[in-house]
Amino acid sequence: MSRKGTDYIQSLRDGREIFINGELIKDHVDHPAFRNAVRSAASLYDYQAANQEQMTFTTPTGKQVNRSWELPDTREKLVKRGLAAQAWAEQSYGWLGRSPDHVPAAITGMITHIDVFEDYDKKRAHALRGYYEYARDRDLAMTYTIVNPQGDRSKLASEHDDKYHSLGVVDEDAEGITVRGAKMLGTSAPLAEEVLVGVQNPLKEGVDDIYALSFAMPLAAKGIKILSRKSYEQSAHSEFDNPLAARFDENDAVIYFDDVKVPWDRVFIYKKTAMCRAQFHATAAEILMNTQSQARYTVKLKFLAGLARRMAETTGVINFPAIQESLGNLASQAMVIDGMFRSLIHDPAERNGFFFPRQLQIYTTQAYSQELYPSFITAIRKLAGGGVIMLPSGVEDFDNPEMAKLIGKTQYSSIASPEDRVKVMKLAWDALGSEFGSRHTQYEMFYNGPHFAALMRVFGAFDWSGATGMVDELLGSYSRAANKGVAAE
Ligand SMILES: Cc1cc2nc3c(=O)[nH]c(=O)nc-3n(C[C@H](O)[C@H](O)[C@H](O)COP(=O)(O)OP(=O)(O)OC[C@H]3O[C@@H](n4cnc5c(N)ncnc54)[C@H](O)[C@@H]3O)c2cc1C
Repeated sequence: MSRKGTDYIQSLRDGREIFINGELIKDHVDHPAFRNAVRSAASLYDYQAANQEQMTFTTPTGKQVNRSWELPDTREKLVKRGLAAQAWAEQSYGWLGRSPDHVPAAITGMITHIDVFEDYDKKRAHALRGYYEYARDRDLAMTYTIVNPQGDRSKLASEHDDKYHSLGVVDEDAEGITVRGAKMLGTSAPLAEEVLVGVQNPLKEGVDDIYALSFAMPLAAKGIKILSRKSYEQSAHSEFDNPLAARFDENDAVIYFDDVKVPWDRVFIYKKTAMCRAQFHATAAEILMNTQSQARYTVKLKFLAGLARRMAETTGVINFPAIQESLGNLASQAMVIDGMFRSLIHDPAERNGFFFPRQLQIYTTQAYSQELYPSFITAIRKLAGGGVIMLPSGVEDFDNPEMAKLIGKTQYSSIASPEDRVKVMKLAWDALGSEFGSRHTQYEMFYNGPHFAALMRVFGAFDWSGATGMVDELLGSYSRAANKGVAAE
């Protein structure tokens, strides 16, 4: 039997240090900033336990765990992994970006290319393999922080005034290493049991070596401080007013490592700048983690298209041709993403004896998705007009007889009661414009790094010689000297 939501919640009661609203809190599981999101994540494990064939596989050690840990050594396993990710995403309508199947996909992608680690350092490769088995068999929920804190992006990590602005090594001994400094941005850190650390920022060999690290630690480890952003769950007025923020605020936290001791069997990269990039790009880490991201994205866009349609029906504009054109545009964009996702899982490439989505395809999907989201949201905002603003201040307004009467007069719809109209519009605002909704736009634009970096990866992987070859072939098929001419004689 795979783990249940109650097991997961129990495991989060680990005494970790989370700082929020000027306080250090210890039992975040029941804190108003996190408790509903914790329960939403727990419900994923309950769904998994109830749908084991769809969601899990049996490990070589006999454990039943999420398919994100499975090595895709057949085409079928890749398809099943993708569909399991989509099924989990459906439980949050695509609003939990870092459900517990994201980071395991990255680690599994590293294991499929363990030779990359072995070529670098056999001991570190051994540690990574051991950690994979440890985390897999416990079906751990994980976050990752693989970006140095923003600071001054014109400077290398070593050039900041504070040597440990970005996380770096302070010391090492026979037991392990001691690390100090910050990493961004641990989405779902309050919902995760462990954190994987890596570096995706440029590092200069011989200069930035102390920052060239990868390791994993429990979030309750001594010295780990989780610095939470504002909780949109806590500031949600009610579930009626902020139905998404109230349930699916997965949080994003800066993680500060205050002289944390990391045992060697949890250190995967040590002072090797080139390996930090290779960890994600020479292995299948990025490919598999982004397959999960794209599975989720298909669900979210479909949900948003559905919300746009419900809004247009509620405001009575659904039969206007211009509105149907806008909705058709949203639907076609959602279908482009759906088609791209299908090609990821159904048209794999074989590498190292495993089946993966094609690298160029995943890079393209990622870059296109980043670009698409803000315009998708803007298109729905255009459909919304002021309807998402001309709303009662809060659910309590319905309890005041005079206000309820006025709501009845002002929230008219031909197809919905005033209450149902308010419900649709409040949901729309939470998706499009509330602090929760705005954070999602920022998330889709940046969770996988800046857009220019995604486009540079497409630039590097595209079949330019095939493309320019066609141009050269045509150019070579005529010349000025042998000009046949097309003008009338
Ligand atoms: C909501 C959210 C959730 C996230 N979750 C996670 C997570 O779970 N784990 C994790 O590790 N990270 C996470 N991230 C962090 C994410 O990886 C970074 O935000 C991302 O890598 C971009 O880095 P940055 O924010 O420092 O922006 P920057 O790199 O500073 O970019 C900001 C702007 O400057 C431009 N810029 C920067 N450098 C250059 C350059 N050299 N040339 C040209 N233009 C440049 C960029 O194009 C961009 O427009 C998350 C981010 C967000 C917003």
